[in-house]
Amino acid sequence: MFSFLTKKKPSTATINAQSVTVQPKETLLQAALREGVAIPYSCRVGGCATCKCKLVQGKVKELTEASYVLSDAELDQGYILACQSVPQGDVTIEVDLSSQPVRRQVSGRVIGQERLTRDITRVRVQLDEALSYKAGQFADISLASLPGVQRSYSFATPAQADAQVAFFVRHVPGGVFSSAIHEQNVMGQALIVDGPVGDFWLRPGTSPLILIAGGSGLAPMLALLKDAANQGVQRSATLLFGARTQQDLYALDEIEALSQQWAGRFRFLPVLSAEPEESNWVGARGLVSDQIPQLIEAGSQAYLCGPPAMIDHAMPVLKLHGVRREDIFADRFSTQHDSLPVAA
Ligand SMILES: Cc1cc2nc3c(=O)[nH]c(=O)nc-3n(C[C@H](O)[C@H](O)[C@H](O)COP(=O)(O)OP(=O)(O)OC[C@H]3O[C@@H](n4cnc5c(N)ncnc54)[C@H](O)[C@@H]3O)c2cc1C
Repeated sequence: MFSFLTKKKPSTATINAQSVTVQPKETLLQAALREGVAIPYSCRVGGCATCKCKLVQGKVKELTEASYVLSDAELDQGYILACQSVPQGDVTIEVDLSSQPVRRQVSGRVIGQERLTRDITRVRVQLDEALSYKAGQFADISLASLPGVQRSYSFATPAQADAQVAFFVRHVPGGVFSSAIHEQNVMGQALIVDGPVGDFWLRPGTSPLILIAGGSGLAPMLALLKDAANQGVQRSATLLFGARTQQDLYALDEIEALSQQWAGRFRFLPVLSAEPEESNWVGARGLVSDQIPQLIEAGSQAYLCGPPAMIDHAMPVLKLHGVRREDIFADRFSTQHDSLPVAA
């Protein structure tokens, strides 16, 4: 009885002076998209920070922890993720449209589909025209055979003049896009690469680098490191690569070539979390974050990329060992499923 009295009403979000009606349980991004108001966005699951905006007035409920992708300074200034924020009443939002990368859609064709491990496939694409991006960024990709399905994948190489790009796609069981890449022949298939997107690239400086990749998270790391090596960057670099077993390690020849080309000190440590005890593996075992205390250098800048759980483990360890929040950059490879449903 009288339950209608507690029913939530729509609220109003003022986004760069444009008014948007937000339905109960709706995120700011969903409401803005429905009403055609510009907020740059990409992953929609709180993994990339493309939709970051400033909450000037009002309150929001955050669906996932924004501190993984926003710096302390941004959080202090009131930045939120539009895709993870449900207004709790009327709100006023500022979106900086000037700092966003120039994003465009370029068509192309799959020219390579190579199984690297039991669940990671390298997809090579010939784009119809070169796309400019920063090594480390990602794009939203759609395949002709999967109309209406678009997923984010990081470029695995720096931008090349021949307009070829590559992606490492890990098979997510039951996943629409990654299952198609894993199970079907997509050679020759047309696709659209929509990008570049994201805030993940090598910041300038001379501080040592610690780079932590899990699974297909190696893609942006390799792109970023190759680009830096080509530019003769001399910073000390430590690359930690977390995988389950020896069979899940890949691109080792590329990493070896990188270590030869790198102008400064280069350390590479693969860390296996599920390698059988009785195997011939003599390298590091356990979680990749377990290795941080032994390897971290003073004043390091940290780059993390891969499954959200790996990033969640590594972040506090890095902070505990003196890495400042503003020196940590992370790309969480969240799936749609990682985004929590709105609580009633
Ligand atoms: C910034 C960013 C960069 C990324 N870069 C990469 C990359 O370089 N390489 C890479 O491999 N991945 C990357 N990802 C992840 C990638 O975008 C996809 O999310 C991933 O490949 C899964 O897509 P899918 O279509 O196969 O799975 P989806 O169809 O999206 O499904 C994902 C999972 O959710 C489950 N699921 C789906 N719907 C439901 C439901 N209603 N209820 C319960 N379960 C459900 C599925 O069974 C599956 O397990 C990145 C993600 C982000 C955010």
